[in-house]
Amino acid sequence: MGSVMLPALDLASIFIANAVVTGVAAFVLRFIRRYHPDLAGIGHWALGQACYAVGFVLLYFSMLDPFQRSSLPGFFFTIGGTLLTSLGFYRFLRLPGRPEPYGLAFFLLVVGFCLVVSMVLEEPGYIMASTVTTQAIISSVNFLLLRRHASGALRPAAVTLAVLHALWALLSLARALFIIGTGFDTQVAISMMPASMLGGTFLLTCHALGLVWMIVGRMQEHLVHQAATDPLTGALNRRALQARLEQERARVMREGGGFALATFDLDHFKLLNDTHGHVVGDATLVGVVNAAGTLLRPVDAVARLGGEEFCLLLPDVTGDGAMATAERLRCSLEGLEISSPSGPVAVAASFGVAWYGTHGHDWPTLLKAADSALYCAKRNGRNRVEVAPPLTDVDLRSA
Ligand code: GH3
Ligand code: MG
Ligand code: MG
Repeated sequence: MGSVMLPALDLASIFIANAVVTGVAAFVLRFIRRYHPDLAGIGHWALGQACYAVGFVLLYFSMLDPFQRSSLPGFFFTIGGTLLTSLGFYRFLRLPGRPEPYGLAFFLLVVGFCLVVSMVLEEPGYIMASTVTTQAIISSVNFLLLRRHASGALRPAAVTLAVLHALWALLSLARALFIIGTGFDTQVAISMMPASMLGGTFLLTCHALGLVWMIVGRMQEHLVHQAATDPLTGALNRRALQARLEQERARVMREGGGFALATFDLDHFKLLNDTHGHVVGDATLVGVVNAAGTLLRPVDAVARLGGEEFCLLLPDVTGDGAMATAERLRCSLEGLEISSPSGPVAVAASFGVAWYGTHGHDWPTLLKAADSALYCAKRNGRNRVEVAPPLTDVDLRSA
């Protein structure tokens, strides 16, 4: 039986395949960016993918030209694409600072170096070794960036992309070492191109999907945030507070301790709205939540139950401690001045406090107890803190 000859890999087709993959990715990313301009980094990614596409087209045309004049710019475009992807990661992960000038300086350094090498040394093997080494460096940086900052809903996509960049860096490093090992032999360097570029097709395809997966992760984060917060004040909403309370209840049942709820309602808020307008009313609601955020511990939660009624969840605090926290916030709100066109506007609120055990064991009972204490505070003259009456044995048995 004769041996079966596999057809040789066709480099030109692989270049075109890579150009198509990255071109489509650039288009998709550009489209996503148009509808989500708030998501940083996607513009860099779109431009990076477009650079890859141009680079692969130039590399394809360089094969038709006996002087291979477009191969050097082709390499530059692919390196520019990797760099822009890197800058995109930096922006997307919301890291501080402006890395663009450093990226540009690095790019110009590489381009200058390659141009000098191509003028001084005739062998293209030197250029290939330089460009794949640069590729290995940038992919290693991307790997580190993604690995270090992969968190939350982005984690699966970021870890996958980090692995891809590690593979990319290893592939590039292996190519560079091989070219160096063969004494920068251009023929050897070129003979490796089809296999490594086919590896590139695989990596680029997975990479483009990984970028879209990152965006989906970020959008998921946004949706989860929006589903849990009040859009005006940024406080938690009722559903999110209830979920936090259930977590807290489970913790207390496991580990012991307690927690308190304090509901509060702004006093004569309708009058404030009628006198100063809804814009000042809205600013007051925001100011109140900000004041609570400044005063409370990071473990505490503040939620807007509706209108001008709020609720605090205070873990590990009961009895006098809960009363003291509510009293401190009441004083802080009393001292709050909201600016309005007609001068500073004063705020006041009435509080009702209840805690786990004494006033109930679940969300409806505790909220009802805190609310009844709040109405008691309103009846007793407003701008004050009242505690709920303890549940009787009969209440506790039926709760
Ligand atoms: P009390 O001291 O008894 O609580 O009186 P109040 O005027 O604060 O209570 P009332 O329930 O009569 O009025 C609440 C007002 O809150 C009425 C409504 O227009 C206003 N309000 C509710 N939600 C918002 C909001 O999102 N923005 C603004 N500006 N006002 C709001
Ligand atoms: Mg009110
Ligand atoms: Mg109210």
